[in-house]
Amino acid sequence: MSGDSTIARAAKEITLSDLEDYVNNIVLKKNGMRCYVCGCDNWELGPDPGDNTKPVIVTALMPFVPNGGIWSFPLVCENCGNMLFINVNKLIKFKASKKK
Ligand SMILES: [Zn+2]
Repeated sequence: MSGDSTIARAAKEITLSDLEDYVNNIVLKKNGMRCYVCGCDNWELGPDPGDNTKPVIVTALMPFVPNGGIWSFPLVCENCGNMLFINVNKLIKFKASKKK
């Protein structure tokens, strides 16, 4: 994703409360959302250092795609620190589906 794309703009509009809604939606589904290391079901949603209303976004670089990367929101297990990553595109689609 490039920094000025439509997806980038949509990603910047995602708030911590949008991410919390998304996580709660997953938790309500069949398998819940437990840490696969310790079984804890409490996750910390990290705020962006520049804007504490927004979740921090991290990028996994794609070495064979110029300027390419997979953007995600990191969640940290409150008990053991294990991390999981929610894909930014999924959250954008989730937010758009709630507006309909
Ligand atoms: Zn854990």
